Amino acid sequence: MSPAMRAQSFAGRRGLGFVLASPSGAGKSTLSRLLIEQDREIALSVSVTTRAKRSSEIDGVHYHFISRNRFQALRDHGELLEWAEVHGNFYGTPREAVEQAFSAGRDILFDIDWQGTVQVKEKLPEDVVAIFILPPSMKELAARLHRRAEDSEEVIAKRLDNAKVEIAEWRRFDYVIVNEDLTRAYDDVKAILRTERLKRFRQTGLEGFVEGLLAEG
Ligand code: ADP
Ligand code: 5GP
Repeated sequence: MSPAMRAQSFAGRRGLGFVLASPSGAGKSTLSRLLIEQDREIALSVSVTTRAKRSSEIDGVHYHFISRNRFQALRDHGELLEWAEVHGNFYGTPREAVEQAFSAGRDILFDIDWQGTVQVKEKLPEDVVAIFILPPSMKELAARLHRRAEDSEEVIAKRLDNAKVEIAEWRRFDYVIVNEDLTRAYDDVKAILRTERLKRFRQTGLEGFVEGLLAEG
């Protein structure tokens, strides 16, 4: 077999669900954005939420912004893979988009909290890898929330209160990254994704490829 044919035949891969979670302000959206821009093999799972849209957000891109009634209907009809109440709002992952991506062998990035992470890991135990992003200090977390300037003082205070509760759940994750230097944290995220993609059971094209190797004269 020529090297080109061989490259083709081992390329098959099973889709991977990649969770990036963190207390609000630690940097998960920044890291997610970099990954989505630079890695063509992964797409963002766009959640539904009942929270009000921020000025920088686009409906259908960052979230699907929906009413509480609509959220309840989706949840009650089993259309959410997971859902949770976070900071007084409801958030959920539409099931269908995830199923479509996985069956097409594409990776999906989840920007969800620890409660959602527990649910997707339970439902898709082989297919989900979860990373928790920590801030270098609580002082820096507060500074980042203020610097982002997207939320009111009241919302920031609520998010800082919740941060300690969320940080206490760190043991539920497969990997933990302290996001002090953004470039370094992003390199770590890429390294984990690259390694997880190489896991033997995710490389579905290997079976035939190895058979071919063994059959070579
Ligand atoms: P999250 O999605 O976790 O709520 P964001 O990604 O929105 O957090 O980051 C919060 C703020 O902190 C943003 O203004 C972002 O630019 C900034 N930020 C993210 N990572 C770093 C870092 N390593 N150093 C300094 N500022 C950062
Ligand atoms: P924000 O309002 O800052 O966009 O998000 C608040 C929190 O909700 C973050 O921790 C974010 O990861 C989480 N979140 C966003 N979408 C979902 C979702 O679909 N499910 C769950 N469980 N959490 C979500």
